[in-house]
Amino acid sequence: MRLGIISALAEEQNGLIEAMENAAKVTHGMRDYTAGRLWGVDSVCVLSRIGKVAAAMTASILVEKFGVTHIVFTGVAGSGDLGVRVGDVVVADSLVQHDMDASPLFPRFEIPLTGQSRIASDRELTRRLSTAARDFLQNEPGSPQFHRGLIASGDQFINKRAQLNALKDALPELLAVEMEGAAVAQVCFELGIPFGIIRTISDNANEDAAVDFMHFVHTVASRYAYNILKHFCQPQ
Ligand code: SAH
Repeated sequence: MRLGIISALAEEQNGLIEAMENAAKVTHGMRDYTAGRLWGVDSVCVLSRIGKVAAAMTASILVEKFGVTHIVFTGVAGSGDLGVRVGDVVVADSLVQHDMDASPLFPRFEIPLTGQSRIASDRELTRRLSTAARDFLQNEPGSPQFHRGLIASGDQFINKRAQLNALKDALPELLAVEMEGAAVAQVCFELGIPFGIIRTISDNANEDAAVDFMHFVHTVASRYAYNILKHFCQPQ
């Protein structure tokens, strides 16, 4: 396995490059790709920046230029369900591009000419990410919860209750909203690369989202990412 690890923002990947052995950085297409051994796993870490195109480009280059065989995206997300709280962790079973709508030519959410609207994540990576998240959360104060299910991505920071409610009406199983996961899913689906997406909830995708997001990203996000990835690379 050569593992590609993507996050949108530096805070979501804090400490990973420092934890790498024999780290070597290559800059390509305005991004830094750092390859090395991360807790024994041959890995390449990169920040995609925000949004679906940025994430799709990064995932493609990880596979085509850096030869990764598996991809994990780790980052933060807005809650898509009342039962999913700030500090909880969501691992995606499947991903949908919530702003994809080529109707009436194709059903809403279907990615034209692929026949896919929800792309399933890899079962084994998802199982390993889930175990890693559960192990980490066990010892966290405030009893954060683990969830597994549907994550929706789009080129929008969702910060209005009405916007989220409209999305929830169309996708009742929705657990989290973010801006990259479903793009990585499409690239990996088309290239035949197993992938997994893990998100810590930073905000409730409502009017307070921007403030909650900034606070969370600066205080806890990186600790979650670092520890969950560590458990993932070194299963107990
Ligand atoms: N104002 C912020 C914008 C961050 S965008 C800034 O200046 O940095 C939010 C990032 O976190 C995206 O990468 C997305 O994947 C995730 N995210 C967290 N909460 C979100 C929400 N409510 N809606 C959409 N994406 C969210």
